Amino acid sequence: MGKRESPLIVWFRLDLRVDDNPALNAAIESGRPVLPIYILDDDGEGKWIPGGASRWWLHHALKDLVGELADLGLELVLQSGDSRDELFALIEDVDACGVYWNRRYEPRAIERDRRIEAELKSKDYETKRFNESLLFEPHEVENKSGNPFKVFTPFWKYCLSKDKPKPLSRPVASARGFGAAAVGGDSLESFDLLPKINWDKRFYQQWDPTIKGANQRLHEFVEQAARDYEENRDRPGLDGTSRLSPYLHFGQIGPRQIWEAFRRANLLDDTGARKYLAEIGWREFSYHLMFHFPDTNECPMRREFENFSWESNEAGFEAWRKGRTGYPFVDAGMRQLWATGWMHNRVRMVAASFLVKHLRIHWKRGAEWFWDTLVDADLASNTQGWQWTAGCGADAAPYFRVFNPYGQGERFDPEGKYIRQWLPELRELPAKYIHRPWVASETVLSEAGVVLGEDYPFPIVEHAEARRQALAAWDELRRTTAG
Ligand code: FAD
Repeated sequence: MGKRESPLIVWFRLDLRVDDNPALNAAIESGRPVLPIYILDDDGEGKWIPGGASRWWLHHALKDLVGELADLGLELVLQSGDSRDELFALIEDVDACGVYWNRRYEPRAIERDRRIEAELKSKDYETKRFNESLLFEPHEVENKSGNPFKVFTPFWKYCLSKDKPKPLSRPVASARGFGAAAVGGDSLESFDLLPKINWDKRFYQQWDPTIKGANQRLHEFVEQAARDYEENRDRPGLDGTSRLSPYLHFGQIGPRQIWEAFRRANLLDDTGARKYLAEIGWREFSYHLMFHFPDTNECPMRREFENFSWESNEAGFEAWRKGRTGYPFVDAGMRQLWATGWMHNRVRMVAASFLVKHLRIHWKRGAEWFWDTLVDADLASNTQGWQWTAGCGADAAPYFRVFNPYGQGERFDPEGKYIRQWLPELRELPAKYIHRPWVASETVLSEAGVVLGEDYPFPIVEHAEARRQALAAWDELRRTTAG
């Protein structure tokens, strides 16, 4: 029997799609047999091992990818362990000629990938890396002085002035598979990614975590909601945003595909839709910051915040996590997060602000909870979102701007539709009181069937007093860092 031709390995990571996937396309176009692999490497992620909700998504995304690759004639190998060791073991097993992958930008992934790339090169294997997940890679974007941007508006202006890359189409040439069955590998079940407790019940109603689900969602958004995005994006009671964040995180869809869908629908000059594209810009900006300032996942970008007087308020943290702070807008968000793995952006800002300003609990504790419970948990966007809210990030909301947790609800959910959905115990309250049940009279409360302090808590802190204390802490920080 003749020797089998050496395959090219495509190493899948956060690029779990077959359309617009440059590493996969290039491997197929090479004409060699292609062997895709996914390695579950928890140790390689360091502290930021995917959380519970992300693992749920990952399970389904991998299952879907197996099917999508099979349609191209390719079999996905699943392995768990150290990325470097598993890759080199596979190379030896199948006598591969090289490895292609799409880049990641988390500091640990960059460091690991560089090491693997150097070793591959030193051993004369072919290796190529591609950009799958961003419009512009962080090293391509710089300001006039040749430095990274720290402010969003000029960053995005610069990006808008550049031609946008077009997505690649799904490979049509039938790929030459290598026959992974001969290689062995783990089963998806052995990855053990699904939760042990029955926590993900509602995830199934909320999400279709597949490539088809991503494209369907994009299509519906472009057809039905994109033009009204600017008007509706802050209304958590409406389906006014795209909910594409988990698909973007896992690479089941990419920003080039989104841009192209907007172009085809003649939306690039539409004001509402441009606001949406600017949010895609915030995602790019988050990656830009993480790449150029890699320690910001752990440390505040504005260093003086290292000395901020954070509180360790366990009871407050528990109430926040469980959605029992007594502020319905915050609580509805935290319950939506637990039930569906997602929270509306406006509510993320208010809930995060409540933790860091009203309770003065460190933003990193909030970031860790979001990391575990969000299906779209993304190191770049989560860090940037928390640092923005805490006032310690690049281009952040100033610390002294303290969101009013009931005022925000009255403004963005005036009828209380969102509250009624996530806090059934307040469902019968009139809109006038739904964001501030504690000001309702006994009669109003009893007609709505609410006993405050039993069915729903009194506010755990008083807004005006908490705001005063937050500002005092901030003044103190300014005084000490100025002196
Ligand atoms: P849309 O409004 O439809 O926006 C489209 C896309 O743009 C999103 O899918 C997302 O990829 C990107 N985007 C939108 N807003 C932002 C933003 N402020 N920063 C970066 N990218 C943005 N987003 C995540 O993807 N993962 C996270 O872990 C995450 N953590 C956050 C934590 C905090 C405290 C805050 C305030 C925001 C966080 N965000 C995070 C940003 C934002 O809330 C979500 O991207 C958005 O709510 C996702 O819903 P969507 O897809 O409907 O967004």
